[in-house]
Amino acid sequence: MKKIFYSIINLFLFTIIYSNLFAQKPNLLKRTIIQEVYVIKNVNIISMNLSNSVLQNASLVIINDRIASINGPIPNEAKIIDGTGKWLMPGLIDMHVHVPTDAGPFGPKLPTQGATVFFDLQDFMTLHNSNGVTTLFDLGSRPEHFGQRNEIAKGQVIGSRMALAAMIDGGKGQGRRANTAEEGRQAVRSAKAEGYEFIKLYSDLNIETFKAIVDEAAKHSLKSIGHIPDAFQGHLQEAFVPNFGMVAHAEELTKHTENYTLEDAQRFAKLLKANGTWLCPTFTTIEWIASQVRSLDQLKALPSLQYMHPLSQSKWLTANRYNKMSDSATIVKFENYVKFNNLLVKECKALGVPIVAGTDASTSGVVFGFAMHDELELLVKAGLSNEEALNAATKQAATWLGIESIVGTVETGKKADLILLEANPLENINNTKKIAGVFVNGHWLDKSKIKADLADLSKRNTAAKADWDWKKTISGK
Ligand SMILES: [Zn+2]
Repeated sequence: MKKIFYSIINLFLFTIIYSNLFAQKPNLLKRTIIQEVYVIKNVNIISMNLSNSVLQNASLVIINDRIASINGPIPNEAKIIDGTGKWLMPGLIDMHVHVPTDAGPFGPKLPTQGATVFFDLQDFMTLHNSNGVTTLFDLGSRPEHFGQRNEIAKGQVIGSRMALAAMIDGGKGQGRRANTAEEGRQAVRSAKAEGYEFIKLYSDLNIETFKAIVDEAAKHSLKSIGHIPDAFQGHLQEAFVPNFGMVAHAEELTKHTENYTLEDAQRFAKLLKANGTWLCPTFTTIEWIASQVRSLDQLKALPSLQYMHPLSQSKWLTANRYNKMSDSATIVKFENYVKFNNLLVKECKALGVPIVAGTDASTSGVVFGFAMHDELELLVKAGLSNEEALNAATKQAATWLGIESIVGTVETGKKADLILLEANPLENINNTKKIAGVFVNGHWLDKSKIKADLADLSKRNTAAKADWDWKKTISGK
C-alpha cells in the first residue's frame, strides 16, 4: 500500500514538473521561431581566414544570430543591406578590459544594503556596439558579470559576449588573495567551482604561489593570463612556467629591463616564445599613462570622453592617479616604457610570438570601445601589418579564448558578429573607424542608429555631470 501511495505521489510530482515544463515551452519556442533575416549584398568580405583575404562582391545571409550562407540563395523575406563599395569584417575582440559593475556601498555599510552606484549596462555596451567590439575579455571578473552576461543572453541588453577571468592576488591585494601554494590552488578550485573560465594572476603574488596557481589552473583546464609579479624581479625567466598562457601587458616585461636595450627585448621575446606564452601589449594604456603623467591636456581634449560615465569622467579629471606622479623622472620612465614596448613587440613578431589586441579599458584615458581602434593603429605602428593587427583583434584572439569555432572569422555557421566598413582596413588600419554598421550577435545597428545612440548617451552624461562628483561619491555624501 505504502508503495502505491509513493507511486501516486511520484506520478503527481512528475505531472507537476512535466506540466510546468510544458507550460514554459510555448515561450521558449516563441523566442526561437521569430526569424530575423538579413542579406548584405555585393560586399567585399575580409574573412580573416588568411588564405583568402578578400572575397569580392559577395552576398552574405544572416538568420537570427548566425551567418547562414555566403553567396547562397537569398530568402525572400530578407531585409537588404547594400554593401556596394563596402567591406565586411569580423567583430573585434578586446582581450583586456575591466567591465564596470554596480558598486559601493560607499560610506556606511548596513546588512541587506545593496550597491549605491549603479551602471546602465546598455549605456556601457553602446560604447562597444558603436565601435564594432563584439567580444570582451574581462580580467577582474566578479559575480555581477555573470548577471550582466545573462542580461545580454536574454536579449534585455544588446551587447558584447564576455569571457570572465577571476583575479588572484597576493599580499594585501584586492579580491581573491593567496599567499601560499595551497591557498593559490584553493583559490583556483573555488574560481572554477564558481564558473569562471580563466585565471588572472596579479602583481603581489609570491613566486611559489604564482607557480602553484598556473599549475592548478591547467589541471582544471583554465588558461592563465597575468601580470608578472614583482617577486620575479631579477629572475624573470622563473615566471615562464608551463601553461602560463599570456602576459597581460608589454610593460610586465618592460619593468624587467634597466637600460631598455634591444638585447633585453630579444631576451624577453625568447622567453615568451620558448614557453608558448602569448602577449597582449595594451599599447593604448601605456600611451595614456605616459600622457597623463605629463599633463591632463590630451585627456581633456579627448572627443570620446563625453561617452564615459560622468563618475569616471570626474575621477579621471579630478583624482587622476597618474597625473599625481608627475615629475621629470616618472615622465622619462614612461616615455622609455612606450619606446621599449614597441621594440619588444617588434622582436615578438620576428620570433613568431602570437600577439592579441587588448586595451585595458577603464584605465583613465582608455575609453571603452573607442580605444580598440587606437590599439589597432598602435600595433601597426609597432610593426604589425594591417592584416596582422586585424588578426590580433579577431581570429587570433578568439583562438586563445577557445571560441574560434563561433567567432573571429566571417564564415557560414559562425555568430553574426560583424562590422560593415566604408573603406578597406587592409589598406589603412584607420579605416576600422569608418563604420557603416555593426551586427552584434545578429542585432543590426546601422550608422544612423549608432550616431543617435551615442548622441543620446553624451546628452544624458552631460546633463548628469553635476550629480557625479568622484570625491563626494566615494565619501558616501
Ligand atoms: Zn587590466
